Amino acid sequence: MAGIIDGKALAQTVRAEVKTRAAAFAARTGREVGLDVVLVGEDPASEVYVRNKERAARKAGIAGRVHRLSADTSQHALLGLVRELNADDAIDGILVQLPLPRHLDDQTVVDAIDPAKDVDGLHPVNAGLLAVGRPGLRPCTPSGCMRMLDHVGFDPKGKRAIVIGRSTLVGKPIAMMLLERHATVTIAHSRTVALGEEVARADLVVAAVGRPRLIEGEWIKPGAVVIDVGINRLDDGSLAGDVAFEAARERASYITPVPGGVGPMTIAMLLSNAVTAAEARVPA
Ligand code: NAD
Repeated sequence: MAGIIDGKALAQTVRAEVKTRAAAFAARTGREVGLDVVLVGEDPASEVYVRNKERAARKAGIAGRVHRLSADTSQHALLGLVRELNADDAIDGILVQLPLPRHLDDQTVVDAIDPAKDVDGLHPVNAGLLAVGRPGLRPCTPSGCMRMLDHVGFDPKGKRAIVIGRSTLVGKPIAMMLLERHATVTIAHSRTVALGEEVARADLVVAAVGRPRLIEGEWIKPGAVVIDVGINRLDDGSLAGDVAFEAARERASYITPVPGGVGPMTIAMLLSNAVTAAEARVPA
């Protein structure tokens, strides 16, 4: 029976570390770390995420400001705000909550963020730095996954890892991070043939698809570590991951639950990125 990787508890640890670093930054510079979040429109899920980020920032001693813009905001106005935030020296991190309403272009807006303030790690400059193995701000959810692996003492070096999902947000960056740590990485996606056979070879399975129980428990190699990034709302209102948890738990050595696994790590890593950005912008 696999050990459960408790994302809530680990996120608390990360948040405590962030708080200490944020306090040291404030003592040294005379101002708090500044993290500004831009929310366009009234998408209820985005509203919840943004409120959680605001609260978490405050608890960590980070000055979190939210800019709430109406759903009919123009691309021109949004880009204007991003440029203002780029130019404001007291702001270390900028996050534009995605997805944006349809008439706005996510990529153009992300491209406008100063890469040094891109705490989501989605700017092409930061994605490129990750791809060439240089330091930069890195996407929060993949960073949270890596922290979970470190926490259970899983060293990716020489291990076979499979990442299921190739999104810019999760799949690709986590594959890059595992490669950097010397894993032999397979990236599976919607066109992959015989997914079960690919998964069965892996010492580490990272699922980031968004399909409940796509990964069958019987596929998991005995002793493998399973990181389930997927968050799926079932018909009965409950949440499930991409992995058939109970069956996978019988075979894995460690597994993350949904909810309470990767999810809580994402905000913790966002706060960590904000402090990292601040420390880099105002070197000691
Ligand atoms: P996405 O829709 O951008 O990407 C999904 C990926 O899955 C694609 O690359 C696609 O090729 C692949 N895929 C689709 N069907 C497949 C199949 N049958 N077999 C293999 N691969 C298949 O999604 P995303 O933004 O990467 O998010 C993935 C999941 O992770 C979602 O459930 C999302 O809610 C969740 N998520 C969680 C967090 C968190 O904090 N825990 C953060 C981001 C995303």
